[in-house]
Parts: sequence; structure tokens; C-alpha cells
Amino acid sequence: MFVSLTARIAAIGLIVLLALGSLAALLVDASYQASQSVSWATHSAAIIETTEAALGDLREAESGQRGFVITHDPAYARSFRQRVENAARTIARVVEQTEDNHLQHARAREIAVLMKQRSAVLLQPLDLARRGDFAGAVAVIASGRGRELMDAVTVRATSFLDEERTLQTTRQDAAIRRLRGAKRLAIIGAIAVALLVIGSFALLVRGIRRPLNTMLKAMTALGSGEQEARIDMAMGSREFTRLAVGYNAMADRLEGAVARQGASERELQIVNAELERNTATLRERGDVIELLGGMAHRMQAARTDDELAQIIRVFVPQVLPAIPGVLYAHNNSRNCLVPVACWGGIAVAADGFPPERCWALRRGQSHSVVDPGRDIVCGHVVDDAVYHCEPLLAGGEVIGVLYLRGRIDAENRFRMNVLAENIGSALVNHRLQRSLREQTIRDPLTGLFNRRYMEEALTLEISRTVRSGTPLSLIMCDIDHFKRFNDEFGHDAGDAVLQAVATEMRSRFRDGDVVCRFGGEEFTIIAPGTTAEALAGRVEIVRQAIAELNVRHGTRTLGSTSMSFGIATWSDAMVRDGSALIQAADAALYQSKRDGRNRATISTLAA
Ligand code: GH3
Ligand code: MG
Ligand code: MG
Repeated sequence: MFVSLTARIAAIGLIVLLALGSLAALLVDASYQASQSVSWATHSAAIIETTEAALGDLREAESGQRGFVITHDPAYARSFRQRVENAARTIARVVEQTEDNHLQHARAREIAVLMKQRSAVLLQPLDLARRGDFAGAVAVIASGRGRELMDAVTVRATSFLDEERTLQTTRQDAAIRRLRGAKRLAIIGAIAVALLVIGSFALLVRGIRRPLNTMLKAMTALGSGEQEARIDMAMGSREFTRLAVGYNAMADRLEGAVARQGASERELQIVNAELERNTATLRERGDVIELLGGMAHRMQAARTDDELAQIIRVFVPQVLPAIPGVLYAHNNSRNCLVPVACWGGIAVAADGFPPERCWALRRGQSHSVVDPGRDIVCGHVVDDAVYHCEPLLAGGEVIGVLYLRGRIDAENRFRMNVLAENIGSALVNHRLQRSLREQTIRDPLTGLFNRRYMEEALTLEISRTVRSGTPLSLIMCDIDHFKRFNDEFGHDAGDAVLQAVATEMRSRFRDGDVVCRFGGEEFTIIAPGTTAEALAGRVEIVRQAIAELNVRHGTRTLGSTSMSFGIATWSDAMVRDGSALIQAADAALYQSKRDGRNRATISTLAA
């Protein structure tokens, strides 16, 4: 009936209050009734007492009159009047007291009238006696009028008192009955109210405990991790239904939050893993960059192409592990890509290939072939390999190509890009250095080594000879009558002769021999590992070749030329800066000049 728990509690409270109120009202009524009955009984007792007092006074008056008449002692009659008046007053009060009871009231009035008459009859003998007529007084008493009246009073009074006593008894019984009733009512009412209160509270507790248990069970389940714990049953009251709805909403939100937290944690794990991967990649990249730094540093210090190739062969497989490859660079005339270095077991033809055979060089950008049947394959790739060609650029100019065998993933592409940049700039740098060095050690007119380089090389070879004990020889040579070419054909013609002679010498001496222009039309050849005598044969060949030269300058023929030679061999007695060896060879040269030119003389100083 009551959906709300509050309304139910209020209703129970109201019922209990009503029950208590009714019980109290009943008890008040019962006690009022009882007190009414008691007061009526008391009223009857008072009437009885007053009546008896009036009768007593009348009898006392009668007794005093008799005593006086009999004894003639006036003392008996002293209180007569007082008694008569008391009796009259008292009975008058009884008349008043019985106004509520019509029958008793009538009786009381009749008794009062009779008592008044009796008093009057009593007064006659008394008056006679007071006047000394005691006999007359006795006669009046003996007439019996007084006794009749007194009997009548007694009869009426007895009847009146009996009635009043009956009334009193009835009223007392009623009072007792009502008190008992009130007592019973109090006990039964208290028990009924107690039962009502107990019953109501039992109902209330039942209405609270059942949903409370349901809620507790659900909350405990939720607390122990059962996220799907919900309250589906009827809760029996609006308040608990609201609580259940609120709990379900909270559990839903909690489940959602836990799910979101789980998702966030998973995302965090993914991001963390990604971060770790990136950190590892960055660390690896750091290592690679350090490696590349070391590589770049070494490449800058490389003097020769061989050194450069060696550095590349050592470092590139560390930067790009398990990826074989070849580094090609343009030759000087830029018509061929020649292999600089190869690694990872690739065999390459030393003669290289023309630039147009590589698609990376033709397009000026990377060329990858992942599926050889589905893309154009470069001409320099002989087999059906998966490969990548990366052009090497420096200062906007293509200087070579990096050929890599296999598939290049994103990480290796990053490494390859850094590598290509490093190698590109190192190659350019190397070439620049080489050209600068060439400029400082070469004579620009003839392309031969200059005097400074000759002196350095000579010191180096002397120390090597001292160390190894192998022989070392030096040739000084001078074009005969060279001044004539200048004088007859001009300085340019003289230069042309110098170039022709230089070319001849460079091609005729061995690779290990250092051919230098000493100055003017004088030349020096350092010949390690050989003696002057062993060298004489080659010098003879050179001399003949120069003698047979017929240099042309423009349209003119400059005529024949010849050269004189002086050959000396290193001896331990000589000073180590090479000046003594040069002087020895020079002395031999002058000997050749003195002997008629176009000849070779072996120094005798060394012997
Ligand atoms: P000899 O047979 O005694 O050696 O006579 P020579 O004329 O060759 O010798 P000389 O020392 O008298 O002349 C050398 C000349 O070479 C003098 C110089 O003008 C010329 N000369 C030196 N350097 C160059 C050069 O770079 N170019 C040209 N065209 N002439 C040069
Ligand atoms: Mg000279
Ligand atoms: Mg000369």
C-alpha cells in the first residue's frame, strides 16, 4: 500500500500514536467513571452520616427533656435547644444533599417535617417542666403523641437510610467494577499496543533488512572485483529502489571507468613498447652515427684511394650489416663509374660501367628493385637480384652510386641515407685534397713531380734504403742546348719540348721510379731498389727515345733534341739529406756535358 519507506514509518507511527491515544482516552474515561462512582458512594456515605447525625441530635434532645422531666435537674435540658437546632439544620442539609434523587429528596423532606413536628412536641413538656409543672409534663409525654412522631421519624429515617445504603453499595460496586475494567483495559491495551508496535516494527525491519541484504550482497561482490554485480530484484520501497538504481548507475560507471582504465593501460603499454623500440632505434642510430663519425674522420685522413676503399670496406658492413654492396665513383673524365670498394662477398668488374647503365644515375634519385620481373633493372646488375641503387651527391653534383644487394627496410634506409651523405662528401673531400696535394707536388707544365716533392721523396727513400739495405740510385739529366729552342722558336716552343721530353720520361721509367722536374730543363729521377749500373740500360733507352723525338709546335717542326744524364748510387758515406747523392749525379751529368752531350755518365763518387 505504501510505496515509500518514509510513508510506511509515518503510518506506523500514526497507528501507534492513535492506539496509544485511544488507550489513554479509554483509561481516562474509565478512571473518570470510577471516580464518579466513588464520589457518588462518598455522597451517599455523607447523606447517611448527616441523617444519622440529625437523628442523633433529635434523640439527644429527647433524652435531655426526659432526664429533666424525670430528675427535675435542669442540667439535662441545657443543650436541648442546641440539639433541636442542630437536628433541624442537619436534616435541612440532607434535604439539600438529596436534590439529585427525587425519591430520597421527598423522603428527606418528609423526615424533616416529622422531625420538626417531633421537636415541637418535645418542647411542650419541657416548657411545663421549666415552669415547675413536672406532672403536666409527664402527662404530655405519656399521651404518646411524641412517641408516635418519633416512631414515624425512625420508620421514615430507617427506610431513607436503607435506600441510601443500597445506593451507596451500588455505587461502590460500580466504582470497583469500573476500576477493574480500567485495570483490564490498561493491561489489554498495553499488550495490544505493544503487539501493534512490535508487529509494525517487524514489518518495517523486514522491509529494510531484505533490500539491505540485497544491496550488501551486491556491494560486497562489487568490492571483491565482480564488476557485473547489479541489483535486478524489486526492492519493495521507493527509497531502496532509488538506492538500487543509484548503485546500478554507479556500478555501470565504475565498470566503464575500469574498462577505460584497462584500455588506457593497454594503450600505455603499446606506447611504452613503441617508446622502448624508438629508444632502442635511437640508441642504435646513435651508435651508427658514432660509427659514421669515426668513418668520416678516417676518410678525411685517407691519403690514397686504397686507404679510402679500405675504410669503406671496414665500416659500411657495420653500418648496414648483412647487406653486401659496391661503391662506384665517377672517373676523372666522368664517362665511367669505377668500383671504389666492395663488401659482403660481391665480385665486380674493375672496368666499371658507363653512367647511363644505372637508372639511379639517369634519374638522379634512388632506384629500388624489389621484384626484378616488375621493374626496370639497371644494366650494371648482372643477375636477377633484389637491389637498391643510391646516387651519391655532393654540392648538387652526382659523384657516384651506392649499389646495395637485398631489400632495404626503413631503418636501413635511414642508415643508408646518412652513409650516402657521408661517403659523398668524403669522396669529394678526398678528391679535393688529392688535387690540392697534386698541385703542391706536381710541376704544372710537365705534370712531373716538382723539386720539393723530389727532396721529400729522396729523404724518404734514403731512410728506407738505410733500413732495408736495398740500393738506391738517382739520375740528373739536362736537355742539351735547350736555350736554342727558346731563342729560335720562342718560349712556348721551349715549353712544348719540355712537355714532350717529360712525357717520354714518364712512360719509359718504371712505376716505382719518381720522375721530377728539378728546375728549368733539368730533371731528376729517383730509382729505388737499383744500382747505377743496372739503371744505365734503361737510361740508354730513354736517351735514345729522346734523341729520336721530333717535337712539333703548331705547324713547325722544332728539330731534334737530345739529353745528357748523370747517374749516382747511394752510399752510406753520403749525408742523409740527399744533397751528396744529388751532387754526385750532377757531377756525372756535367761530365756527360763535357764529354760532348747526348750521353750518360755513372758517377764515380759512390765507388
Ligand atoms: P747546355 O747544353 O749546356 O745545357 O745548354 P743549354 O742551352 O741547355 O743551357 P742553358 O743553361 O744555357 O739554358 C737553359 C735555358 O732554359 C735558359 C732558360 O731561359 C731556359 N728555360 C728555363 N726554364 C724554362 C722554361 O720553363 N721554359 C722555357 N721555354 N725555357 C726555360
Ligand atoms: Mg740546364
Ligand atoms: Mg741544357
